[in-house]
Amino acid sequence: MRKPLIAANWKMYKTPAESVAFLHEFLPLVCNIDDIDIAIYPTMSSLASVIGAVQGTNVSAGAQTMHWLNEGPYTGQTSPTMLASINCDHVLLGHSERRIYAHETDDMVNWKLRAALAQGLIPMVCVGETHDKRESGLTEAVLRWQISCALNSVKPEEAEPIVIAYEPVWAIGTGSVAKPDQVSEAHRIIRREVAARLGEQCSEMVRIIYGGSVKPDNIAGIMEQPEIDGALVGGASLNPQTFAAIIQNA
Ligand code: 13P
Repeated sequence: MRKPLIAANWKMYKTPAESVAFLHEFLPLVCNIDDIDIAIYPTMSSLASVIGAVQGTNVSAGAQTMHWLNEGPYTGQTSPTMLASINCDHVLLGHSERRIYAHETDDMVNWKLRAALAQGLIPMVCVGETHDKRESGLTEAVLRWQISCALNSVKPEEAEPIVIAYEPVWAIGTGSVAKPDQVSEAHRIIRREVAARLGEQCSEMVRIIYGGSVKPDNIAGIMEQPEIDGALVGGASLNPQTFAAIIQNA
């Protein structure tokens, strides 16, 4: 059985002080939950504070991106070893906002995924189609392409920690959550592609979660679908009560 995972992507919100204040309120609300993994991805400047604040709790912390090399003349970048050195466990890779605004390519997502696995980080790879691609009937082609590129040269025996977040670009920050049957269908496509790349057994271990306008009142319908192993939450994760409600309703 795959353990559900509910994660918060805080994007470019929350200073270290605001992050710690959030956790002060949030941690007691979820401290009794042991059947769902909980992770928070703060912005880089708040990451060390969040890691410190969640130490010894049932919540883990991750970075929103990283470089694939361990060091070098790459201004503004953070490496896998640097994340590991501050006890960071998780890393988000290939979020559509990184693909759009930081021009992250499928190849770069693949290099980062392999670097994360080599470093022992738990990588969450984001994939998802735009509105135009969906309207053109290309959802399956986009998802299969993104997954096959991301998993290129990944070995089945190292793939267990991988999490895939299906985030249709049209559902991010728009309030228009994908319908549960649309998400289920996308997750089946993704799992089939993982199986084609890494084998059936491996594909059954990889968690596939949904992101895009997840709220306390729609999470239950999403989690009812057997194909959906959790959620990646943006806007609604910024408030401790709201994010805790999402986890409780899941
Ligand atoms: P929203 O929950 O704000 O739609 O954002 C989703 C997302 O991008 C999470 O990574």
